[in-house]
Amino acid sequence: MDFSFSEEQGLLRKTVRQFVDKEIMPFIREWDEKQIFEANILTRLADLGLMGVCIPEQYGGSGMDYNSLAIVCEELERGDTAFRTAVSVHTGLNSMTLLQWGTEEQKQKYLTPQAKGEKVGAFGLTEPNAGSDVAAMQTTAVKQGDYYILNGSKTWISLCDVADHFLVFAYTDKSKKHHGISAFIVERQWEGFSSKAIKGKLGIRAGNTGEIFFDNVRIPKENLVGQEGEGFKIAMSALDNGRFTVAAGACGTIMASLEASLKYCHERSTFGKEIGKHQLVQQMIAKMEAGLQQSRLLVFRAGWLKNQGKRNTRETSLAKWQACDYAYEAANDAVQIHGAYGFSNEYPVERYLRNAKAPVIYEGTREIHTVMQAEYVLGYREDKPLSNTLPAWPFEEAKETVK
Ligand SMILES: Cc1cc2nc3c(=O)[nH]c(=O)nc-3n(C[C@H](O)[C@H](O)[C@H](O)COP(=O)(O)OP(=O)(O)OC[C@H]3O[C@@H](n4cnc5c(N)ncnc54)[C@H](O)[C@@H]3O)c2cc1C
Repeated sequence: MDFSFSEEQGLLRKTVRQFVDKEIMPFIREWDEKQIFEANILTRLADLGLMGVCIPEQYGGSGMDYNSLAIVCEELERGDTAFRTAVSVHTGLNSMTLLQWGTEEQKQKYLTPQAKGEKVGAFGLTEPNAGSDVAAMQTTAVKQGDYYILNGSKTWISLCDVADHFLVFAYTDKSKKHHGISAFIVERQWEGFSSKAIKGKLGIRAGNTGEIFFDNVRIPKENLVGQEGEGFKIAMSALDNGRFTVAAGACGTIMASLEASLKYCHERSTFGKEIGKHQLVQQMIAKMEAGLQQSRLLVFRAGWLKNQGKRNTRETSLAKWQACDYAYEAANDAVQIHGAYGFSNEYPVERYLRNAKAPVIYEGTREIHTVMQAEYVLGYREDKPLSNTLPAWPFEEAKETVK
């Protein structure tokens, strides 16, 4: 077991932290208040090679390991959940899925510009009547010659107005239930595609989330990802990567909550002493520290498994569940430590609390992960090997260079 980070990973953390401090922190309160998604941040992340950090260089990425993606997510969410969410859907849910399941042609055409950050990817699974219960979806893709005709809609889609490419799930054969769902790459510019942002969200107000609509969208058959009927399996394996980034990001929320709380503990005095000297305040600080350290261990274990090319659905689910619960508690306690001041946006902690609620809901609600973990332990759930796996790290091309 080796718990140390490489020099490259240390440098990566420093780079993202500096970027967040300079380019996000000074403006985030205003973006959050005005519900502005600052798309330029994605361009700047691309300049730093952070839109495809764990995608092999041969496909336009930075070729770093999967835990490097976790480092990026931690540091980004320390700034705001909106930008980590963007990286989660772009890299975790979309690009890594194309790396795992895409044809060589799809990798050249879609993955490569995404990894370079020239194009943005998103993920369309949820529908108005199908969230946790994915198979309740109603969107259909009917084969007609060399095309599939896509009809339906998706909701709560991150980057709905921003992304160029969407990984969309639809029924090609409803009678087969889970086995009748297929995955497709859909381009925004195609006729029949439209999107609309949801306003008035509780949190991630500096993020872009909303609906996407398909009105007889013609998808070339080459844009089918995997085989017909493999969509459910592909969606679940995409979530193994998305959830990993959400869990890592949750560590960023804990870091931010802790940072703000420590500062306030030293600034504020009651009953003749710093509030940090009161034991019940110390209890909240200690819980944040414990949550951060435990969550990180779970996240980096899941990343280590990804680096080995091993299946990690169980470990990633545990990391996502625990880290998001800890992050929500940490943000809640951070508001408590700030007293009434925590209740206004004069301090950032109220934003952390509002933001921290979404990750407890998306990419598998707390309840879904609780049930999954119980089922694993009880022996009701077991993961079988997948036909397509993420490449282990170091990637083959890197190994060849080392030789
Ligand atoms: C900010 C934000 C961004 C999002 N981005 C995306 C995106 O980019 N792409 C995308 O496809 N989706 C996205 N989502 C949607 C998200 O993944 C879903 O909201 C989530 O899967 C839950 O589905 P639901 O909201 O329909 O809740 P439901 O599934 O209707 O659940 C309602 C409640 O019932 C509980 N419940 C449901 N089933 C069970 C069960 N079997 N056992 C116990 N309890 C259960 C749930 O835990 C929850 O408390 C996003 C959501 C948010 C809030």
